[in-house]
Amino acid sequence: MSLIVHKYGGTSMGSIERIKNVAARVAKWYEAGHQLVVVPSAMSGETNRLIGLAKELMPQPDPRELDVIAATGEQVSIGLLAMALKARGIKAKSYCGWQVPIMSDDAFTKARITSIDDKKIRKDLDDGYVVIVAGFQGVTDDGQITTLGRGGSDTSAVAVAAALKAEECLIYTDVDGVYTTDPRVVPEARRLTKITFEEMLEMASLGSKVLQIRSVEFAGKYRVKTRVLSSLTDPHMPLSDEAISGTLITFEEDEKMEQAVVAGIAFNRDEAKISIIGVPDKPGIAYQLLGPVADANIDVDVIIQNVSHDGKTDFSFTVHRNDYARTMDLLKSAVLPKTGAATLSGDTKICKVSIVGIGMRSHVGVASKMFSTLSEEGINIQMITTSEIKTSVVIDEKYMELAVRALHKAFDLEQAPA
Ligand code: ADP
Ligand code: ASP
Ligand code: MG
Repeated sequence: MSLIVHKYGGTSMGSIERIKNVAARVAKWYEAGHQLVVVPSAMSGETNRLIGLAKELMPQPDPRELDVIAATGEQVSIGLLAMALKARGIKAKSYCGWQVPIMSDDAFTKARITSIDDKKIRKDLDDGYVVIVAGFQGVTDDGQITTLGRGGSDTSAVAVAAALKAEECLIYTDVDGVYTTDPRVVPEARRLTKITFEEMLEMASLGSKVLQIRSVEFAGKYRVKTRVLSSLTDPHMPLSDEAISGTLITFEEDEKMEQAVVAGIAFNRDEAKISIIGVPDKPGIAYQLLGPVADANIDVDVIIQNVSHDGKTDFSFTVHRNDYARTMDLLKSAVLPKTGAATLSGDTKICKVSIVGIGMRSHVGVASKMFSTLSEEGINIQMITTSEIKTSVVIDEKYMELAVRALHKAFDLEQAPA
């Protein structure tokens, strides 16, 4: 008998019929003798609907109240799933985040889990219940409801698995695993049977929304065995087949894997570029420009500073699109007047495309192959950033799909590595 955590995403919980399928799948695991904790998301579209309602009243919704609203989607899901299990004669009990409690900091709309009290869950499991815990929800020390950022149910599930020292965390979703890139963009994308933790971390941080990045961080920190698999298969399929399906996140040290140089391609349409032209090129200028941006809690991603001419240089960086207007206002009103920069320009129609693979550590020429592939397609690269296991480029948004497809082909990602 093992303790297993299942997580079901929005599509998987998207209708009463689908919830019945989830219950049938959970029942199969439970009846095989496992202890089950299930973490569902809100039904598909529900979180967007709730945020939409809030925005009708307040275009920039108050974050605390937004969380009070957005957290309700998961409350509906846990109640429905508990009923679907009870209707099958299985003992089930649901908990909202605050009831567990799943404690978080007070960064409303993007709170971080700080601790999880496992007492109630353990007692219920020992009493033979399937325990259903709302994804996405947290609570602060002083009892305020928080949410964990979009896609946050993944993190709830892995964090619960870590707190309970579960045997495995199974992330059931609407694809049958992690692919070489989003299969919605490249139909030839190939499912990976395994991906290393480091690659998954990069893929998630660079835009592959199949897992929220913080869930991957938790999996790494607490060594949670995590698998991504489909919730849309026949719920009655043999458990032994299901248990080895999908994509397993592995820890590199654990085994030597057959490894392609590039494991996958990620892309991100959520950023915007800001350029400051004609900045006096003197020590401390980067800090003068970006210090106030950081102080305003705005994350800066790719940064480039050009070679200077006549004592002046140009400076470009990217921020999340949601922070674009705020950053431009801040630069215009408080920063540029002090630094003597000439002009400010912005572009929200950009995207970032990244190739990821631990094999890049030991192979040269990978980045240059990326650049030549894009150049053959006539795609201009606006910014470049690299790390040991990834290369990212910022390009015009309209070329995103073309770039991802061309790179997928150039790196032979549709073929399994020999
Ligand atoms: P859930 O509601 O189950 O959390 P998400 O929509 O958050 O599901 O994540 C699953 C989606 O992630 C898939 O439908 C797919 O379009 C997208 N996706 C992006 N990149 C990848 C990738 N590399 N592999 C698999 N799916 C990906
Ligand atoms: N329901 C939340 C969202 O849509 C959390 C999740 O799906 O993981 O972002
Ligand atoms: Mg998700």
